[in-house]
Parts: sequence; C-alpha cells; structure tokens
Amino acid sequence: MNKYRKLPWNQKKVQHLLDLARVDKIGHAYLFHGQRGIGKLDALMEFAEQLFCQQAQEGESCGQCQGCRLFAAGSHPDFRMLRLEEEARQIKIEQVRESQSFIANTPIMGRHKLLLIEPAELLNINAANALLKNLEEPAAGTLFFLVSHQPGSLLATIRSRCQQIKFPRPEKHQALEFLQQTLSAEQAGAALEMTNGAPLAALKFASEESMQEISAVHESLLSLLQGEMNITDAASDWMAMDENLLLETLLTATEILLKGLLRDKTSSATNRHWQSLKELQSLLEAKHVRSLHFFYQDLLNTRAMLRSRANPNKQLLLEALCLEWVRPFRDNTERWKRIA
Ligand SMILES: [Zn+2]
Repeated sequence: MNKYRKLPWNQKKVQHLLDLARVDKIGHAYLFHGQRGIGKLDALMEFAEQLFCQQAQEGESCGQCQGCRLFAAGSHPDFRMLRLEEEARQIKIEQVRESQSFIANTPIMGRHKLLLIEPAELLNINAANALLKNLEEPAAGTLFFLVSHQPGSLLATIRSRCQQIKFPRPEKHQALEFLQQTLSAEQAGAALEMTNGAPLAALKFASEESMQEISAVHESLLSLLQGEMNITDAASDWMAMDENLLLETLLTATEILLKGLLRDKTSSATNRHWQSLKELQSLLEAKHVRSLHFFYQDLLNTRAMLRSRANPNKQLLLEALCLEWVRPFRDNTERWKRIA
C-alpha cells in the first residue's frame, strides 16, 4: 500500500515538480535532501500519485482512476521503490538488479515511470555502482528520485549525476499547527523542540513513553559530564533502548546544544521537559564546540556501523560514544578519575 501525508509546507515543491513533468521539462535524476523527519518522502509520494493520476486537477489526484487505484494499492507498473528490506541495514545490489527490467522498459501506462530510492545513503557500494550505470544511460521516460538525509555520504559520482533539491524545514507555526491536530500545545512544543523542528520526527517520538526515554538519555548525558555515572552503566542503559530512538535523541540533543552554543543561549531548550538539556547547555562553553562536532561525527559513524552488516559489538560502540562525550572534560583530572 502506498500511503502518504499531504503536508502544507511541501505543496510548493510538489507543484513545481508536477509543472515540470507536465511540460516535459523534468530532469531524469534528482537527489532530494533535507533534515530528517520533515516529510520529503511524503512529498514525493504525493507527486507520484498525481503524476500517475489520469485525471488530476488543480493539485489533486482523483483517487478513482486506474492510475490512482493501482498506485494506492502499491501495484502501479510504472512505480517502484527501493528501500531497506526487513532486518537489512543496507540497500543491496540484488535490489538494484531486480529493478533492471523496470528501468530498461518503456513506461506502461503513461509517459513516465519512477524509481524512488530512500534513504539513498544506505545504498551499499555495489548497489550504488550498479545504479550509476543506469543514471549515465537513462531509458526514455525514466525518473530516478533519490532521497537522502545525508547527501554527503553518497558517492560523489552519483551526486554529480543528479539535480539536487533541498527540502527546507517548515516554519515553526506550520509545524505546530500540524502537530496540534493530534497533540496538545505543550506536547507539540516539547516534541518539536526535541526533534529540532522536524514535525514528522516529533510526531513519532511524542508518546509519553518516548518522551520519558528521551529525558533519560539527556539525564545520562548530564550525569556523565558531572561524573555521577560511569560509562559502562550509561552504555548499558542505552543498550536497552530502541536503537533509532536513542540515536535520534543523541543526534538531536547535539544539534540543539550546538545551536545553543553557536547562537543565542536563551533560544534553545526552553521547554520544561528538557531540564537536563538546559543544564547541559549551561555546562558547555564555546571551547567545547569543536568536541561537540567530533561527537556528532562519531554518532553518525556509530549509526552507520550499527546499520552495517558487520555485526559490531554494540555495547563497545556505545561505550566509545560515552567516552567521546566526556572527552572535553578530561582536562579536569579529578572529574576524569571519577568517570573512568
Ligand atoms: Zn486519478
């Protein structure tokens, strides 16, 4: 089943792409990028549905025609998605190979067919190279849409063959309006802050249970710096958490702290849910910016390793992260001894 949400802040981009497709000016390969959790995929699914609708009018697909029905059922012959298969940590070359006849044949129902790859940064090297050949010699009517939160980790040769389009983060009022359809104003504000302004990520993590887990991660970050928790215990706590929630929380916390350090100290972490984050903010100084950037890079590397097929030792990886987190405070020998 192909489902998506029609998000108000995406409409301009969707319409722009549809206009290009209508006058046959659309490129054959695009790389869509932007922050996690702002609805890039929803926008492209919305585009696809209208592209395949045989009687779309004024920015709406009809929902009734053969194109709409096949698309909604996930069986439109001119649409294909490459995503992570269950339990997989990468998009594999077999998946690209299985798409070869789709890529090579002409569209069956209309003028275009669309191969959507998300998240493109998880294409493994062989899959990326196989795809590259197709990007170089596209068959008529084929559209390649690559979607990525981290376009920098794609092969440069792939990036250079795609037109790049950035999805901006929605305005805060748009995001809050959207969240308040299902959340209280307070929940919406807190969740949005925690996800650095990304409304779909906020929606995913807004449950009371997730909020408590997120607060617990913030608390352990604080306790680590204050020397009140050791690395092994912190890593063990993190082991017990949902991996995505943990990494999302750590990435976002670091983003928020960096934002607070680099700009206005009062602008970040104002919500009462994030007491520990506020305390962290007050502990950190301008000289820590560099270390925070290193920690952020470590987080991205750790996430990549956890997603790789190498079966890394997760406890050790998380301990290494904790170590990197407290590193800027190593100067203080007294505190460091207690942590170690
Ligand atoms: Zn239709």
